[in-house]
Amino acid sequence: MHTGKKILLVEDSRFITAVVGDYLKKNGFEIDSVATGEDAVEIVCGHSAWDLILMDIELAGEMNGIEAAKIINNHKELPIIFLTANASDTIINQIRNISAYGFIEKGMDNTALLATIEMALKLHDVKSEIKQKESILNAVINSVQDGMIMTDDKGYVSLWNPAAVQLFGYTKDEMLGKELHELTAAESMNKNDIINSLFADKKVKELKIKHKNGQVFDAEISTSTLKINDKDYFVGIFRDISDRIKAREELEKLSVTDYLTNTYNRRFFVTRLEEEIERSKRTGRVFSIAMLDIDRFKTINDKYGHSIGDLVLQSITGYIKKRIRKVDCLARWGGEEFMILLADTPIINSGVLLEDLRLGISKIEIPNVDRFTGSFGVVEYAPGDTADMMIQKADSMMYEAKKCGRNCIKYMM
Ligand code: GH3
Ligand code: MG
Ligand code: MG
Repeated sequence: MHTGKKILLVEDSRFITAVVGDYLKKNGFEIDSVATGEDAVEIVCGHSAWDLILMDIELAGEMNGIEAAKIINNHKELPIIFLTANASDTIINQIRNISAYGFIEKGMDNTALLATIEMALKLHDVKSEIKQKESILNAVINSVQDGMIMTDDKGYVSLWNPAAVQLFGYTKDEMLGKELHELTAAESMNKNDIINSLFADKKVKELKIKHKNGQVFDAEISTSTLKINDKDYFVGIFRDISDRIKAREELEKLSVTDYLTNTYNRRFFVTRLEEEIERSKRTGRVFSIAMLDIDRFKTINDKYGHSIGDLVLQSITGYIKKRIRKVDCLARWGGEEFMILLADTPIINSGVLLEDLRLGISKIEIPNVDRFTGSFGVVEYAPGDTADMMIQKADSMMYEAKKCGRNCIKYMM
């Protein structure tokens, strides 16, 4: 029984209206009837009272059932089943074009009529449910702040949300059909490598992505694969994390930097030295380190005050930073002591630079401040050396330089 379901019967034959109406009423439907297409359009478009329309094709008024159905379809999502007296090809084609719910020939047995109505109601329910789910899904996709992109089984972008438009800067038309790798900034990688790396595992990954205007920024992407009809569809969710990355880089830089001199700190130097030792072990290429201690620095502080002392330290490190190579490393070891790592430099080749530094420091001019100098102790990596051992040796050579009257360089040979 179909209690509560309301059917509008559009039929100009009183006899058919009575017979069909009675039968459907017996099966629990509520029935209203009109005799013309015009009446049907008027009442259906004005109210939402019916669950289904049974529509005769040839009707009493000017408008036939097909024309009436077209108008109703434009206003209402209602299942319409046609009642036909003769199902000619032309009529069937017309019905096909406007309704997904089919037709039934007049005079067919009532069970067939009932079954057709039941199927139509069911189909309509399913359609409504899908529509509802679709609108929920759209609402979610459209409201999330993360850019969502779905590609079809050939890897072309087929679906995306407003946040993705915002993120990548392409218009809807431009976005459609783009390939995922075109949105990333991994120029050195080929298309397949990019796609494979994006979908290699389910983890969230960080990558560089490219805005339409060429700007590259950091993003986080989480990916998943959907299987539909045995074909793989990729879903990628992108989040702009440039602020987070910037903050992280800033923090990383701070954690290895000496605040006063903006050189590396002691911790970083030890790590770098250990890495260099490992590299030397592998490649057999030697390097040197130098310890620099500013001479009689205490007297600078005593004479001019601590802040001038600070300025001296900054002047010295500023000078050294400019003079050494990018591969070298200058670090503040503590107080007025510094370490310089000279990559790929045997001790016999270190003299030119270090002499320059020694002389350069002695020539630094700070208005109204006496000149200052530094003492250096230098050591070359020898197989078996640990970082500690090298530092110890450099320190003892620096001590030798102090003993020899300062402002000089002592090499451990
Ligand atoms: P030497 O030639 O034997 O190295 O004599 P020195 O006076 O340089 O040696 P000492 O180790 O006695 O003194 C180092 C001074 O460096 C003492 C300390 O107050 C000063 N110092 C350490 N860190 C800083 C700093 O950050 N700023 C300033 N202005 N002074 C510092
Ligand atoms: Mg000292
Ligand atoms: Mg000193």
